[in-house]
Amino acid sequence: MTTPGTVVIVGAGHAGVQAAFSLREEGYDGDIQLLTRERWMPYERPPLSKAWLKAGDHHVDDLYFRSPESYADKKIDLIRGVTVERIDRTSATLECSDGVSRRYDHLVLAPGAVPRRLTLPGSDLAGVCHLHTIDDAQQFLQRIDGARSVVVIGGGFIGLEVAAAARARGLDVVVLEAGTRLMQRAVTSRTSTFFDRVHRSHGTDVRYGALVEALGGDDAGRVGAVHLAGGEVLEADVVVVGIGACPATGLAEEAGLRVGDGIVVDELLTTSDPQISAIGDCARFPHDHQSMRLESVQNAVDHGRCVAGKLAGRPQPYPEVPWFWTEQHGCKLQIAGLLTGYDANLVLGDVEARKFTNLCWKDGVFVGAESINRPGDHIAVRRLLSMTPGHRPSIETATAEGFELKEFAKSAQRAADLREVTT
Ligand SMILES: Cc1cc2nc3c(=O)[nH]c(=O)nc-3n(C[C@H](O)[C@H](O)[C@H](O)COP(=O)(O)OP(=O)(O)OC[C@H]3O[C@@H](n4cnc5c(N)ncnc54)[C@H](O)[C@@H]3O)c2cc1C
Repeated sequence: MTTPGTVVIVGAGHAGVQAAFSLREEGYDGDIQLLTRERWMPYERPPLSKAWLKAGDHHVDDLYFRSPESYADKKIDLIRGVTVERIDRTSATLECSDGVSRRYDHLVLAPGAVPRRLTLPGSDLAGVCHLHTIDDAQQFLQRIDGARSVVVIGGGFIGLEVAAAARARGLDVVVLEAGTRLMQRAVTSRTSTFFDRVHRSHGTDVRYGALVEALGGDDAGRVGAVHLAGGEVLEADVVVVGIGACPATGLAEEAGLRVGDGIVVDELLTTSDPQISAIGDCARFPHDHQSMRLESVQNAVDHGRCVAGKLAGRPQPYPEVPWFWTEQHGCKLQIAGLLTGYDANLVLGDVEARKFTNLCWKDGVFVGAESINRPGDHIAVRRLLSMTPGHRPSIETATAEGFELKEFAKSAQRAADLREVTT
């Protein structure tokens, strides 16, 4: 769409806000409406389970992406506290919770993901927390004030970050993981083992194969216990549920768009309706001959830029190298690339000093790495992954004496640039 029209964006998270501002940067001068059901100014989610939970002041405006004025400055009509309830594709309008019907020339769906809920007896007791929004984080902070024990259900990123924050505040913490290792879906077993040791060394009780049967409460309806299969009962003043999230596909599904664990889009992030795009956590997109959905800030922000380019008349397929980070007990893990199915690896650095990089290969091709407290390595790996496989190191090269990752990435880049100039 190169002529001005109205772009309506549903969801003002990382993806939606980036799309709105990138549209202006791309010179788009039509109307932009950015709708969110939340009452807050658009904000960053990652700190909610990390730095923001540390003791001290919890200023909400520290989390805002942009100043309130910047939306008006860029003529972005930010509409807060309004839920989009239905898409009418025939009339290209949205039915909204404020009773207003909004017309779009192009609709960008950026509704994110919704945390998975427990459906066990006691799941609704007071003191059972999720961590997805500012309201959730504020509620968690209130709950742990004066509490002694926290049980975290789920050993994924968010559960472990919250466990670390609760431990740092002196609470007794138990992490219950149903599987056999931590962050199983996203990291290698080496990194799972490393983080298991980190959490234990800080006094957290980490349990595997732990199946929760029910949560117990007192007469006032407050949680007090976690009942495990096998009969063990753990004391819990607060229970944090971190068992993953589902893509917010309801609106799309109801409107008849193609959906399947995410809203299905093509390489330009267009849904099965050419007038509608989907970006961020909700979108299932093609990547490297597969289809994937990612829950990460990088993915959301890059999708936002990509959709803006398309709508401003400069379409570029979405090519980005996925990357992600987490921080637990002072260990910053940065992951670049997709490591699932890797069949060879090599560790550089010093695991005991908590500064190392785990390089991974699949079928002889370098596919990415996990870096712990080695940000320079992470950047070098992202650089390598942006090049064709021929420019990346083989395991033999990386094992050779004197191999230096950052230097290798620099010379690979020079070689790639030279090749581009001469072809
Ligand atoms: C606690 C926490 C910590 C995280 N830490 C990291 C991290 O360290 N690194 C990392 O890369 N990623 C992290 N993530 C993931 C990252 O925040 C998400 O991938 C990112 O926010 C996705 O952006 P999004 O714009 O797709 O969705 P969201 O940020 O979820 O925004 C979607 C917005 O749309 C709104 N919405 C939904 N439906 C409607 C509707 N019908 N009408 C109006 N509004 C609607 C939602 O309320 C929400 O505000 C974390 C997530 C959480 C929750």
